Amino acid sequence: MRFAIAVFVLLCAPAMAAEQPLLREVAGAVDPRDLHATIAKLVGFGTRHTLSDTSSKTRGIGAARRWVHDRFVEIGRHCGGCLTVDMPEQSMSGERIPTPTAIVDVLAVQRGTTDPDRVIVISGHIDSRVTDPMNATADAPDADDDGSGTAAVIAAARVLSRHKFPATLVYAVLSGEEQGLYGGKLLAQYAAAHHWQVEADLNNDIVGNTLGTNGVIDKTHVRVFSEGTRSIETPAEAERRRYNGGEVDSPSRNLARFIDGLAARYLDDFSVRMVYRTDRFSRGGDQVPMLAAGFPAVRFTEAIENYTREHQDVRMESGVQYGDVLAAVDFDYLAQVTRLNAITMAALASAPPPPATVKIEGAVSPDTTVSWSPAPGAASYRVWWRDTTALRWSDNQPVSGATTLTLKNVTIDDWFFGVSSVSADGFESPVEFPGPAGAFVPAH
Ligand SMILES: [Zn+2]
Repeated sequence: MRFAIAVFVLLCAPAMAAEQPLLREVAGAVDPRDLHATIAKLVGFGTRHTLSDTSSKTRGIGAARRWVHDRFVEIGRHCGGCLTVDMPEQSMSGERIPTPTAIVDVLAVQRGTTDPDRVIVISGHIDSRVTDPMNATADAPDADDDGSGTAAVIAAARVLSRHKFPATLVYAVLSGEEQGLYGGKLLAQYAAAHHWQVEADLNNDIVGNTLGTNGVIDKTHVRVFSEGTRSIETPAEAERRRYNGGEVDSPSRNLARFIDGLAARYLDDFSVRMVYRTDRFSRGGDQVPMLAAGFPAVRFTEAIENYTREHQDVRMESGVQYGDVLAAVDFDYLAQVTRLNAITMAALASAPPPPATVKIEGAVSPDTTVSWSPAPGAASYRVWWRDTTALRWSDNQPVSGATTLTLKNVTIDDWFFGVSSVSADGFESPVEFPGPAGAFVPAH
């Protein structure tokens, strides 16, 4: 009887990965006052509209971008030059950009110590807008959209640059989002051109509001949006996935589950509301061009939005304040979202990559055999499974010294399976679902 209970516990208890003091230290270093100072500075540029003035030293997107560049350089000075700052630029035109305009992103790269081609990205957009998306001169403070995301990116750089990680971290401040995700496209091109193996893009867009249009207050959740099936799926892959499952197991979705688990463990009174969608209904963000390029990406967004603040001329109307003003940002809340981003980056960059390929076999057998390719830097692995209707991975078995495991009396027909990689010091990667539907590094 005791043996039976032990076996049951071994097979069915959810994993407890090792407690990581590093993640508590990283979370503890995020400071709401620092976030406040960043957004106040950004608001001070008047407008950061993509088509606004770029020559002024005090107003417009050019001055704002140069300030971010200098801020990254300053942070880099404090870590012995650990950041390489670049401002990729491309002339773009199209919807909402009538004449060719320089789209400029500001990127700070913290090169990984042992696995520098693996890249973890955090992004936010610096550009702003008012009611008329073509109005490039009116004051457009956009403290929340997306001063909050930009502040989270810079704060992550400040906190994480004090540590060294096996994988590379990229802090990305993007332009042109409000005109049509131009800066996100530029980031995706830059990543491909530099042969980055992007394992995750954490895109932060409106992450500082806690008072909803309807008066509802939510200070304890952040939404994490993730696509269910891959943007780059081929018709043949889609056919296999429709038949065998994988609708809710893209790498982006398993990244969202990874973030959900970190919040539950390392943050107090703060949790993830996973949304099984690429973005809010019929709306978009800079994670979308990254997904289109085949990179796993999620969107962080405040739990509740305030539509009197988003994309509005700053004004008082019938006693209601319209416009995205500094006073409306909840900095303690933004600090929680920033902590979650920073610990996610630290956890991903400290862990080995998920196995490049995961396979399952076992049709017409009571057992399932899970096999995978070895992941560089992995000391062990964990095979995970869950009921096909469950939201989260529930069951696991650790494996060391092998890249295959046969699960006795776990039939392939009734469960979904995945594998994570674990470092010698207990950092665990996200779970990778088998085949092209779940691969963090796509085969094509
Ligand atoms: Zn935005």
